[in-house]
Amino acid sequence: MGSNLGDRSACLQAARERLAALPDALLAAASPIYETEPWGDPDQPAYHNQVVALTLGPTWTPHRLLAALWAIEADQGRIRHPKRPYGPRTLDLDILLFGALRLDTPELTIPHPRLRQRAFVLLPLADLAGDVPIPDGQGGSVAQALAKMPSKEVGKIVRATE
Ligand code: AMP
Repeated sequence: MGSNLGDRSACLQAARERLAALPDALLAAASPIYETEPWGDPDQPAYHNQVVALTLGPTWTPHRLLAALWAIEADQGRIRHPKRPYGPRTLDLDILLFGALRLDTPELTIPHPRLRQRAFVLLPLADLAGDVPIPDGQGGSVAQALAKMPSKEVGKIVRATE
């Protein structure tokens, strides 16, 4: 989850509450919140990022989860700007992993295709799931992917104080 517009902490809290209220779903864990510099589009405020773990019942599919995430983003006032795919947003919700599933469809790639490039994703994900293998064919766990990130990148990620 990421937020860099408005009250970032409140946005992430609202997102956690909405995820916890999904039917047949449990919010099992939440990482600390990290304050991170924007990625891909530098001219915007810093982000708050957090990773959560959901335990989902058997009725859930990745596409159903993506639709639920889009509804939560829209309710939090997310506006998509076609010319700024990495631009500022009240709330961004992405699926990083879905169990051990590997999926490649036009709408959805799992594991998230930019997972290994982003320290602000790997660091909070490692807080919850460091030992978990990343099922993308490249091998290795979340913690091993984080260890391969340049320390300069990881060093930029700090715990949020709010
Ligand atoms: P955004 O929410 O702007 O970061 O971009 C979401 C876009 O990425 C949507 O068009 C999704 O269909 C697509 N997408 C592909 N893989 C994923 C994923 N693992 N989680 C969330 N969105 C994804």
